Amino acid sequence: MTTTMPAPSTLRAFSFGGGVQSMGALVLAAQRRIDFDVFLFSNVGDDSEHPGTLTYYHQHAVPFAQRHGIDLRMLWRRKRTGETETLWQRLTKPGSRSLPIPVRMSNGAPGTRQCTADFKIRVIGAWLKAHGATATNPATVGIGISVDEIHRANKRRCEPHERIVYPLLELGLRRVDCMRIIREAGLPVPPKSSCFFCPFHRETAWQDMRRTDPELFDRACALEDLLNTRRTELGKDPVYLTRFGKPLSRVIPDGDQLIPLFEDGAGDCDSGWCAT
Ligand code: SF4
Repeated sequence: MTTTMPAPSTLRAFSFGGGVQSMGALVLAAQRRIDFDVFLFSNVGDDSEHPGTLTYYHQHAVPFAQRHGIDLRMLWRRKRTGETETLWQRLTKPGSRSLPIPVRMSNGAPGTRQCTADFKIRVIGAWLKAHGATATNPATVGIGISVDEIHRANKRRCEPHERIVYPLLELGLRRVDCMRIIREAGLPVPPKSSCFFCPFHRETAWQDMRRTDPELFDRACALEDLLNTRRTELGKDPVYLTRFGKPLSRVIPDGDQLIPLFEDGAGDCDSGWCAT
């Protein structure tokens, strides 16, 4: 006699980036318009995530999730020793040669990066595997890409233990629709999420940061200086956080002076693990 094994239940988790699309998805889950058991926010570090994203997470996302019985969890990267590691720590570690973020080379193009894989994809992957996801029973992972950013929806990063889905695309929602959904739920719209020093920032984002949070802007400039001090010692070309081949403090004017924008979107983050 043959026995039929029950099909393993599939874990459904949403990669929560802390921005507009992820928050829109959280509201949709509360309204039962999308079906996810758990929302996972891989925090690249309290010293690395944009402070506005973390403030919003604690002040609005967590209480909202609690009110609606949604399991929203913050995860961190852990080293083999069990200690947590932040992206800022890795970048600034004395003597480090590691350059894990997509810094801009002299031609303005972003270099390869490890940050998204190490601080987002693997962190969430480890949690999924610890909760039963395998290559034969992959977890369904929702990514918050909206219709207006459909070019970012690629499954190149798909790992064996996961099956990527794009619920906002399935519902035909744009970023502006997510904003409306968030407001209609009585919540403020979150700021754009990403590391505060991310080289994928558009020039307007740098300009806003310099105007509204000059201290944070100075920290990004200091990071760029540190990376280039090391590069000089190693006899390597400088790298930058913008695509203009000059230090951030010189490229982004102080005050309200507007810079000419040539924002063609080139170099945008090509996945939905960050900035969603
Ligand atoms: S936001 Fe930018 S710097 Fe931060 S993990 Fe993503 S790609 Fe890397």
